[in-house]
Amino acid sequence: MNRVGIVGFPLHYTLSPVMHNAAFKALGMEDWLYDAMAIPSDIPRHAIEEPRRHGYIGLNITIPFKETSLRYCKPDDKARAIGAVNTIDFRDDVGTNTDVDGFMGDLQAHDVLLKGQRVIVLGAGGAGRAAVYGLWQSGAIVGIVNRTRQRAEEMLTELTLSAGVRDVSLLTLEEAETWGASLIVNCTSVGTVPNVNESPWSEDRLFPSGVTVYDMVYRPAKTAFMRQAEANGGRAIGGLGMLVRQGAKAFEIWTGREAPIDVMFDAVRSALESKTE
Ligand code: NAP
Repeated sequence: MNRVGIVGFPLHYTLSPVMHNAAFKALGMEDWLYDAMAIPSDIPRHAIEEPRRHGYIGLNITIPFKETSLRYCKPDDKARAIGAVNTIDFRDDVGTNTDVDGFMGDLQAHDVLLKGQRVIVLGAGGAGRAAVYGLWQSGAIVGIVNRTRQRAEEMLTELTLSAGVRDVSLLTLEEAETWGASLIVNCTSVGTVPNVNESPWSEDRLFPSGVTVYDMVYRPAKTAFMRQAEANGGRAIGGLGMLVRQGAKAFEIWTGREAPIDVMFDAVRSALESKTE
């Protein structure tokens, strides 16, 4: 049996096993299995080394091990730049970060123009960092807004040191209103279930008309932030595509086969529909 899986804690919410096992089934790969391993946060080394010792082909890594995993594999340039690993192939021990591939791939799939465009990133956590790196690499002019300004400053300093990222502006939400962005990306957790009426762009603020928004939140499928964009004549894209495409990239690394994206989308959608909490 070829085993792959995800390590993290907690893991009850993860959609990755459903998504990958559906892909294996669709391609007749009965000798592949993806499982979820909840590992206590105080033993990061074991989270990586135990699956490796047990002959796993590779792993997905999620909270709280994404950053510490850098120490237990050979991180590629992307993982080093972002400071987090979410996929390892144990055959060469290379760790990478497929969140960037997922995000950028989904923007491309939706024909979103980036080069020379002003893009606002809301949030400076792990997802925000991946977004800033990918957008900057694509030639976008990036501005960041974060509730805790110091965290955004630290993120920028680290991205400059690790990947040479520069010319990124730190903005207040007020400044962002009139900055002239063509795309606004929500990389905060605001608006996710159960707080579905919350938006990172408060209702009392002017919402730039006609902008595209990308919301990394995928539960619910249509967030309050997306509804605001549409009400102001803009376009809204939810984060499900990013989730599926980061998984598809990991699938291709481990199996060397093209991922059945549509199957993975369907599996994730029906798993979300059946979730009650
Ligand atoms: P994280 O590292 O915990 O960062 C959370 C971010 O949200 C920080 O910037 C934080 O600001 C901000 N935030 C939290 N509550 C806020 C509030 N009430 N008002 C304003 N800002 C608030 O999380 P992450 O890993 O970056 O993930 C962020 C979101 O992206 C999550 O919802 C996650 O599910 C989603 N995500 C989706 C995908 C996908 O495939 N679609 C992939 C990765 C992440 P402070 O710095 O001020 O605390």
